[in-house]
Amino acid sequence: MNPFTYSRAGDLDEAVREISDNDRAKFIAGGTNLVDLMKANVMHPTHLVDITRLGLSAIEETEEGGLRLGSLVTNAETAYHPQVAERYPLLANAILAGASPQLRNMATNGGNLLQRTRCYYFYDTATPCNKREPGSGCSALNGHNRIHAILGTSEHCIATHPSDMCVALAALEAVVRVTNRYGERAIPFADFHRLPGDTPHIDANLEPDEIITAVELPPRGFSQHFKYLKIRDRASYAFALVSVAVGLEMEGDTIREARLALGGVAHKPWRNLEAEALLVGNPANRETFKRAADRIVADARGYGSNSFKIELARRAVVRALNEAAK
Ligand SMILES: Cc1cc2nc3c(=O)[nH]c(=O)nc-3n(C[C@H](O)[C@H](O)[C@H](O)COP(=O)(O)OP(=O)(O)OC[C@H]3O[C@@H](n4cnc5c(N)ncnc54)[C@H](O)[C@@H]3O)c2cc1C
Ligand code: SF4
Repeated sequence: MNPFTYSRAGDLDEAVREISDNDRAKFIAGGTNLVDLMKANVMHPTHLVDITRLGLSAIEETEEGGLRLGSLVTNAETAYHPQVAERYPLLANAILAGASPQLRNMATNGGNLLQRTRCYYFYDTATPCNKREPGSGCSALNGHNRIHAILGTSEHCIATHPSDMCVALAALEAVVRVTNRYGERAIPFADFHRLPGDTPHIDANLEPDEIITAVELPPRGFSQHFKYLKIRDRASYAFALVSVAVGLEMEGDTIREARLALGGVAHKPWRNLEAEALLVGNPANRETFKRAADRIVADARGYGSNSFKIELARRAVVRALNEAAK
């Protein structure tokens, strides 16, 4: 691990000022991802700004009737919060499908959004990786790529975003609130994470000197018909090979509204609005579900060891829709 200095910001202004003044500084929240990456010599900030005392630790109602999740609320506090559990069980289930109780007690909502890929080569500093070292190449393209992406990939990177929480947030159409030295802005969740393109080293549409203050959930939580399905190698403590977040509004057996997001398949939580449109107005049956699933995987491409994910994703979508519609 490289040497670094440390300071604890007392308020939001101080945190933003510290990060703006030093382009090699990073925020640290729960530290469950950043510290690992520093130990592995993948990331080497020279200064850490501890943001854990900023008071962004509340879950409150928004004026619109949704919920605002402070960026420093832990994943555990979020999942077990009565309002989240009752109104947004899709989100609670997705969070609880991730990591372990100990990790969820430390991990924060802001840090969860910005956790980095689990690509083996990203962690292995002896191998080329465009995300870790731009321009060096992508070892996964022709290497071990069992856990890699099948949608939205580029010739420069086929990594996936590893979060479970973010898949549910994509389906719920959350909004990310950020602050920089000029003020605040709101980023729709669909625009927050990026596809790799030719800049895979940039994971999110967040400037280096911006801080996430909250994630806002719209009023609609799809609490009657929802499913978070996570397919993984072990029953717990494993990242998703494929995951599916579904929220449905039903009228009898007919689907009135549908939200569908996939994890483990792309550089960002993956939504396909055409697939969602294929569900709306149609009966909740296997034919309808298969049509939507086929639409999603029609754009998929396998790279060898991960090709099995195409059929896995198709089946996972059908199963998740089936369970959500019950
Ligand atoms: C063994 C293991 C297993 C795991 N399994 C899963 C899993 O199955 N599913 C899953 O979803 N996750 C999993 N995780 C990941 C875990 O959820 C993340 O590590 C965690 O959410 C990161 O939150 P943190 O607060 O610890 O972030 P940190 O490590 O403190 O920070 C991560 C990044 O976010 C930045 N950051 C943090 N907060 C802010 C903010 N408010 N504004 C701007 N930047 C910020 C930091 O600068 C850093 O770059 C696992 C982690 C481990 C170690
Ligand atoms: S898939 Fe992305 S993260 Fe993995 S080696 Fe290639 S460039 Fe690096």
